[in-house]
Amino acid sequence: MSVVGTGQFFGSPEEERDKLMQSLMDQKNKLSKSEGIPFVTLNDGKTIPQLGFGVFKVDPDEAERVVTEALEVGYRHIDTAAIYGNEEGVGRAIAKSGIPREELFITTKLWNDRHLDVEAAFEESLQKLGLDYVDLYLVHWPAPKNDNYVAAWKGLEKLGDRARSIGVCNFLPEHLEKLLAEATTVPAINQIELHPALQQRDAVEASLAAGITVESWGPLGQGRFDLGAEEPIAAAAKNHGKTPAQVVIRWHLQNGFVVFPKTVTKSRMVENIDVFDFELSDEEMAAITALERNDRGGSHPNDLN
Ligand code: NAD
Repeated sequence: MSVVGTGQFFGSPEEERDKLMQSLMDQKNKLSKSEGIPFVTLNDGKTIPQLGFGVFKVDPDEAERVVTEALEVGYRHIDTAAIYGNEEGVGRAIAKSGIPREELFITTKLWNDRHLDVEAAFEESLQKLGLDYVDLYLVHWPAPKNDNYVAAWKGLEKLGDRARSIGVCNFLPEHLEKLLAEATTVPAINQIELHPALQQRDAVEASLAAGITVESWGPLGQGRFDLGAEEPIAAAAKNHGKTPAQVVIRWHLQNGFVVFPKTVTKSRMVENIDVFDFELSDEEMAAITALERNDRGGSHPNDLN
C-alpha cells in the first residue's frame, strides 16, 4: 500500500499532485536543458559538451554557490584552472550536486610555473577538486620564454586515465608546430581567446589542420564590449527575439567551437544556456564574423611567461 497520495500525511491530494507535477517539470527542465547541448567528438574518441560554464575570476568563496547554480540550471561541463584558486569550491559543488560523475565534464589546467612538475601539480588539482580523474587537463599557456612546454606536454602524456583527454591553451601555430614535432599524443583541444573582435584565424586553422578541437575563451569578450551596440549582433538579436549574448554564443556554436561563458548571476546562466531554439542565417554569421578587429583582451601568448 502506498502512503503517498492519501493526503493523510502530506497535504491534500491536489497539493500532492501539484507538488509531484512541479517536481516532474523541474526534472524535465533540468534534463532538457542539459540534454539539448550537443557533444563534440575529440581526436581521442572522447566527447565534450559543446556548451559549458567557465569560472575564471569567480571568487573562491563564491565558487561553490555559483557552480551549484550552474549545475541546477543544466550545465554539465565546468572549466576551471589551478590558477583560478577556486578548484575546491568547484569540487564541493560537484560533490553535493549528487550528479553521477560520468554525466559531468570537468576541465582544469596546469599553471606556467609547474611545467616541470606536472605529476605533483595534477595531483594537487585532483585533490582540491575531490576527484579521481578530470575529463580534460590543459597546459594553460605555452610560456615560450621558459621553453618548457614540450616537457610539460610529455608530463601530461604520462597521466594516463586520470586525465581522460589532454590539450593546450593559448598555443599559436609556432607553438603547435614545435609541440607536434615531439609529441606522442596530438592535443585534443586548443583553448584560445576567441570572440567576434578577435578570431585568431591562424591558430584556428593550425589547430583544425592537426585535428585539434578549438575552444573559445572570453567568448563574450569578457564584458569589455557592449555586445548590443555591435550592429550585426543587435540586428540578429532583434530578428530572433534573443539577447546579444545569446547571439554571440550561437555564433561560436555554429562555428563548431566549444564555448563556456562565465557569469555569477543565475538569470544569465539561464540566458546563456537557452541557445538551442534558434539558428543564425549564413548572412548573420558572416556579418558577425566581419566584426574581426584583432582586439585582444588577454595577454599575448608570447608575453606571459
Ligand atoms: P566571458 O567572455 O565568458 O565573459 C564573462 C563576462 O561576460 C561576465 O563577467 C559578464 O560581465 C559578461 N556576461 C556573461 N553573461 C552575460 C550575458 N548573458 N549578458 C551580458 N553579459 C554577460 O569571459 P571569461 O570568463 O574570461 O571566459 C570564459 C571562460 O574561459 C573563463 O571563465 C575560463 O573558464 C576560460 N578562460 C580561459 C583562459 C585561458 O587562458 N585558457 C583565459 C580566460 C578565460
